[in-house]
Amino acid sequence: MYQTKAYSAASATSPLASTSIPRREPTERDVQIEILFCGICHSDLHTARNEWSSVMQTTYPCVPGHEIVGRVVKVGSGVTRHKAGDIVGVGCLVGSDQNCPCCQENLENLCPNGVFTYNSPDKHGTAPVTYGGYSSSIVVDEHFVLRIPANLDLAGAAPLLCAGITTYSPMKRANVGPGQKVGIVGLGGLGHMGVKLASAFGAHVVVFTTSPNKREDALRLGAHDVVISHNADEMQKHAGSFDFILDCVSAEHDINTYLQLLKHDGNMTLVGAPEKPLSVSAFSLIFGRRSLSGSLIGGIAETQEMLDFCGQHNITSDVEIIPIQKLNEAYERMIKSDVKYRFSIDMSSLK
Ligand code: NAP
Ligand code: ZN
Repeated sequence: MYQTKAYSAASATSPLASTSIPRREPTERDVQIEILFCGICHSDLHTARNEWSSVMQTTYPCVPGHEIVGRVVKVGSGVTRHKAGDIVGVGCLVGSDQNCPCCQENLENLCPNGVFTYNSPDKHGTAPVTYGGYSSSIVVDEHFVLRIPANLDLAGAAPLLCAGITTYSPMKRANVGPGQKVGIVGLGGLGHMGVKLASAFGAHVVVFTTSPNKREDALRLGAHDVVISHNADEMQKHAGSFDFILDCVSAEHDINTYLQLLKHDGNMTLVGAPEKPLSVSAFSLIFGRRSLSGSLIGGIAETQEMLDFCGQHNITSDVEIIPIQKLNEAYERMIKSDVKYRFSIDMSSLK
């Protein structure tokens, strides 16, 4: 075991603060990574503040961070996929049973024994729970370590590991592409990746935002149209016209207003995970035979596919790079929807 610097929350109400955490020595399957950048996902904030307590309690201290890019410093004797010096990524998953029907279909994200990068029981017993990427170093099973295409900017590549795959996976399943009208709700970290990817897939992309000042950015990011969602007239113009809508909103909102914008047999997928339940009118679904689904990140093979796609199309996240000392300020700005469009922590600030 060795110690590494990190930022952790001591309770749901305390700000994150500098600390030191244990990491295991790499086993034969492990890759030891010096973390260079870590994106800030709204899930980090939900977890640090125990906002998802009805589904999963947070264990403290909590070290969030699951949009990790770093350099391999050491590998175990059995590691074949990575070597010292490689630039790699780690997303939301660091383990799964690799045996169940989900894992056999490369859906480690749906494995009932999946291990999340933070706040999951630590099977290695290094600590009570796994600790994430707000730290200088991490040790991860090679299966969950991804290759970062060489042409991508590293600070902007980090958010691909969660925001990228979480938006890529449901859009791939929905065959988002030319001839389709696609809505992206909420222009935050996930939403802006959704816009970039949907536009790269060739769809007609419409952004729904509560922030009128994001209109120009939405168009620059690849949207063809922008709707200010509290304007009922603007919303009504799009009634019954969408093939697919991706909801990336982190807080309570009325999803019925979006469901009625779907064509018949259209689908809306929730990736946003608000603290409180959302209500659905049966009529929003039965008129038009519409469907409502959810999606959770993506499997490891699909995450690599997404990274390679982003490499080919030179897609990264629009990031505001911050030193880790600005973490708590970044959280407050995220709550105010004031992120353009992802914070990426320069981990050299932790040294
Ligand atoms: P984020 O950067 O904070 O973006 C959320 C956006 O939602 C905001 O920028 C804002 O966009 C909109 N919004 C915020 N409050 C709102 C409200 N009260 N009413 C309507 N719209 C509101 O968050 P993120 O990191 O993209 O994450 C979004 C959600 O996805 C979080 O709940 C997160 O936990 C979840 N998530 C899920 C997965 C998964 O696998 N399913 C993975 C990662 C994250 P506008 O300013 O444009 O309105
Ligand atoms: Zn995330």
